[in-house]
Amino acid sequence: MSNETKKTPDYEFGGSAGSIGIMLFSHVVLYFLYYLLGVENWTPNVFTITTYAAFVFAEAVFAYILPGVWMQGLTLTNNSGEKYNLKYLCNGLCSWYCTLVMLTFLHFFGYFDLCWITDNIGRYMTTSIIYANICSVMIYIWGLIVDDSKISEQKILNKIDHLNGVLKNLRTFEVEIPQSETEIIQNDIEFLYRELDTLHRKNTLTENHLYDFFMGSILNPRIGILDLKMFAEIRISWMLLFLITTANMLKQYQEYGYISNSMFLIWIAQTLYTNACMKGEECIPTTWDIFHEKFGWMLIFWNLSGVPFLYAVQSYYIYTYNISLSHVNFYILFCVLEIAYYIWDTANSQKNRFRMQRRGTLVKRPWAFPQFSIGTLENPKTIRTDSTEILIDGWWAVARKIHYTADLTMALVWGLSCGFESFIPYFYFCFFLTHLLHRAWRDDKRCRQKYKEYWVQYCDRVPYVFIPYVY
Ligand code: NDP
Repeated sequence: MSNETKKTPDYEFGGSAGSIGIMLFSHVVLYFLYYLLGVENWTPNVFTITTYAAFVFAEAVFAYILPGVWMQGLTLTNNSGEKYNLKYLCNGLCSWYCTLVMLTFLHFFGYFDLCWITDNIGRYMTTSIIYANICSVMIYIWGLIVDDSKISEQKILNKIDHLNGVLKNLRTFEVEIPQSETEIIQNDIEFLYRELDTLHRKNTLTENHLYDFFMGSILNPRIGILDLKMFAEIRISWMLLFLITTANMLKQYQEYGYISNSMFLIWIAQTLYTNACMKGEECIPTTWDIFHEKFGWMLIFWNLSGVPFLYAVQSYYIYTYNISLSHVNFYILFCVLEIAYYIWDTANSQKNRFRMQRRGTLVKRPWAFPQFSIGTLENPKTIRTDSTEILIDGWWAVARKIHYTADLTMALVWGLSCGFESFIPYFYFCFFLTHLLHRAWRDDKRCRQKYKEYWVQYCDRVPYVFIPYVY
């Protein structure tokens, strides 16, 4: 790496001390919560080790072979300085349906009784933790070996300045130029900003191995067409969560002879969430995690273990204490859940589809369910920046992180579905609130640096972050 590209490390999450703290805390909290719920057997066995691996393997096969839509992802530069785009085969929806068929077959024909997951929840959790830690080490080493950053920050900044100068001159002298010409220049500027961001990601290797291990050493590790980060984020975490929650529901039925309304609520909530991740998978390549976050311990651990097991605490709690809600509480929570889901789904969709429209990569997927027409905005209001446009229409005129508010509301419903007897089901909400507040702060900091006065304009036009007239 050339000297001009070396930066003073901008430590996040409290640097190496924070990283160690988070890594320890993440392990402890998972064990502690399930210990409080009475789990006793933690030792993985051949059965849990092979079935966990078999599930991941089956998902990987689906990811390679099933039909889907090809989406364009990040623009990068190869070693010869040529631009190229990562391509993602988004076949999550097809994989989701095939997974449902596969699980139904395995369960009802007695090859794999899903209730075994609940019976062995502690063993499965340890198994997932071991896999997550091993994968983190392997992928960290991979990232250290592969270094494809060949261009310097200064060169990119010079090019951006030059192109901005060209655009400014064209506007100042009101030269009559075709729209397509300005679009080409704007696209080039956008590409360069992304390139800069990518370079910064790579340059965040600080030589502090602990911190780098936590944050990751590689942005987009791939095996052939399989993007490991997106695979872990969508196919493993959410599918496993669905699997565990379904197992807990079936176990309740097996033991008590019925499924309580409380269990039904959490199952619906998490099935909707999983389904949304699959049906909207083509929107994922442009999200924060894929574009910005490297595939380090933080993402690997939370995708392979943290998300499925921490988020399944509520359904395990409901099964353990056989919780039911009053009819009134159930209907109220059900309505709140549906409204929050609607806002979350359509807000994410509006922004992601807007970005895809601008890049010419929008695909229509009429077979995905549910589809909401307001998820795609026609001719939305925007703020035009040097490189791109900021959406200030639809939900994005209401609050800058309205999708976080809706997501948090759903998280609260997950907790409330368990009643008020214990704090355990609310741990997830508190954790998620902290996570999203920190994430919103990080994203705001990044966007302020990137969009400068345009971001200030945006904040003036849409002054609230989470809840209009409150914050
Ligand atoms: P966001 O959807 O908040 O994306 C942030 C990026 O979007 C910004 O960096 C900027 O990127 C762009 N952007 C922000 N505002 C606008 C705007 N008004 N118009 C156009 N572009 C804009 O990122 P996340 O990945 O954090 O969230 C996606 C979803 O995932 C959320 O619903 C969140 O709740 C959910 N989530 C769920 C988690 C879970 O564990 N359940 C964990 C994390 C997230 P650019 O610089 O490219 O313009």
